[in-house]
Amino acid sequence: MLMTITSTHENATDLGFLLRKNPARAQSFSLSFGTAHVFYPVASPECCTVALLVEVDPIGLVRGRRGSADNGRPLEQYVNDRPYVPSSFLSVAIADVFSSALAGGCKEKPELADLPLPLTVELPALPCRGGEGFLRSLFEPLGYTVTARRLPLDEHFPDWGGSPFSNVTLAATLPLHLLLSHLYVLMPVLDNDKHYWVGEEEVLKLMRHGEGWLPAHPERNQITRRYLKHRPSLIDEALLRLAAEDGMAPEEVADPLAEPDEPSGPRHRLNDQRLGSVMAVLKTSGATRVLDLGCGEGRLLGLFLKERQFTSILGMDVSYRTLEIASNRLHLDRLPAPQRERLRLLQGSLIYRDERLAGFDAAAVVEVIEHLDAPRLAAFERVLFEFARPETIVITTPNREYNVKWESLPAGRFRHRDHRFEWTRAEFRAWADAVAARFGYEARFLPVGPEDAEVGSPTQMGVFTR
Ligand code: SAH
Repeated sequence: MLMTITSTHENATDLGFLLRKNPARAQSFSLSFGTAHVFYPVASPECCTVALLVEVDPIGLVRGRRGSADNGRPLEQYVNDRPYVPSSFLSVAIADVFSSALAGGCKEKPELADLPLPLTVELPALPCRGGEGFLRSLFEPLGYTVTARRLPLDEHFPDWGGSPFSNVTLAATLPLHLLLSHLYVLMPVLDNDKHYWVGEEEVLKLMRHGEGWLPAHPERNQITRRYLKHRPSLIDEALLRLAAEDGMAPEEVADPLAEPDEPSGPRHRLNDQRLGSVMAVLKTSGATRVLDLGCGEGRLLGLFLKERQFTSILGMDVSYRTLEIASNRLHLDRLPAPQRERLRLLQGSLIYRDERLAGFDAAAVVEVIEHLDAPRLAAFERVLFEFARPETIVITTPNREYNVKWESLPAGRFRHRDHRFEWTRAEFRAWADAVAARFGYEARFLPVGPEDAEVGSPTQMGVFTR
């Protein structure tokens, strides 16, 4: 398969510095599935074109695969389009051969790395599964001018009609690393065939290479689904993270907590009461090593830091952006070393087992469970109660019964659009008692906020001890 990238920026051969590949010579790189060749068909000060030619060895791939699935088309594994069209193999080649350029580095001329350059990509045979409209919907929102010419199935037999492949040109003015990131993510998406890679770290790669553009992309969901095609278990996780990253301003990040009572007074008071109650439980538990799971902007972490009893503090959240805000709010870069060493922030998801959460005395999970899809709760239960297994766990969640007290909240609506459920007191108790029984904890319940005789308090808190 062939791809070329052309720069017409002044001193166009600077492309060689960015890619760390000398325009004066051809080079070859061996990959696990074949060979990549890099060479420059044109290299002048006005115009410089780099070609990446990737040879895929389909026979080698078949040999390397144990117990390959026979789909009733035994020849397909030997005779297919994989050697000829951009796909996940091209992404892997880009990441291998142009790794520093993809990461946004440029050792010799650092000023070039973030400089928008007039760049044109040519892909002589690009699979456009989903049609030209889909191709355009992927690249045009990113600022590309897209030219596509559908290739005939066989040029000797025009009656046979068009093939699924198009000759595509993409032109835009942008930093090279961004262009490479777009190609890295979107080539497999367009191809939509079985992907070469498999691995838990794919979500992280998608987040890394999608940084700064994927969260706000109008086709974000479709891109994610296709990119993680054969890993349905990862798709929800990725969509959740992207939604969390999507242009969240600090106020919006705080939003999940915004109770519908508009005036900031009562809302803040409830928030303070909630954190105060959690602190009281954790302090009296005698814990010294504490977790804040789904820590958000780090309000509770700030209180933890002030409490000397807590010598080791870990805050985890699924949203990287939120963690950045937490880190700024807590001025982590300015804390004196002994303070700084007490606190760690981690990106991670509460629905995946995570060894970094083991060995703590207590965990707080404040206004988080209602953000998890109900079918994922079972996974969360095991992650926290079976594997992390601290002695004390405090979980808070809204009490749905109290919603009638908020006039601004239409009947039957949740307090926040990202809430997947809101439980009555009976529902929360039933869940908490069952979890406690299953994992050997004891559960007790405390109201948080003004308590109404009929509907209870706005926030409900479960304290689990073992
Ligand atoms: N506990 C914080 C924030 C509550 S808002 C506070 O009281 O201020 C809910 C938080 O849960 C958000 O920051 C969201 O990013 C996080 N979250 C949602 N799903 C998560 C998951 N699967 N794993 C970890 N954090 C998650």
